[in-house]
Amino acid sequence: LRGAMASPDQQTVLVVEDEASIASFVAMYLRNAGYAVKVAPTGREALTVAEPQTPALIVLDLMLPDIDGIEVCRRLRRRSDVPILMLTARDEDVDKIIGLEVGADDYMTKPFNPRELVARVKSILRRAAPERRRTESEELQHGDLTINAGKREVHVGEEEIRLAPKE
Ligand code: CA
Repeated sequence: LRGAMASPDQQTVLVVEDEASIASFVAMYLRNAGYAVKVAPTGREALTVAEPQTPALIVLDLMLPDIDGIEVCRRLRRRSDVPILMLTARDEDVDKIIGLEVGADDYMTKPFNPRELVARVKSILRRAAPERRRTESEELQHGDLTINAGKREVHVGEEEIRLAPKE
């Protein structure tokens, strides 16, 4: 069953964490849950990896050797609304709040249960999905009438209405 969960439209999760042992077990749990996983050990690399192709979600550790997680989050937010799950060390209450203030979608405190992390990832992606799809397709709907400005298509029910280019 586990193999059947992998599909061509697999979502990619970027894991940003410099501690190799944490990065690899988080990656393993996410892969087992059917996600494609990329790992970046530094903030700089995270920004480089996320630039050409934005992942579906980013798991972002706060403590990184170069640019910290908060700054990485801020920079990502300038150009993308990609869901971000922050990881923080224990008792960093201030950091937690800042993490959410800079635009993270959720956070988890270390040490965390990896199953819980997978559950959070799933729930964030579920919340994010409908909104993102709507903005991609630019569809307007009124009763049976559907107008897709992006694809320049008009449908009434299932039937496509052919329009002249100016229309
Ligand atoms: Ca770290």
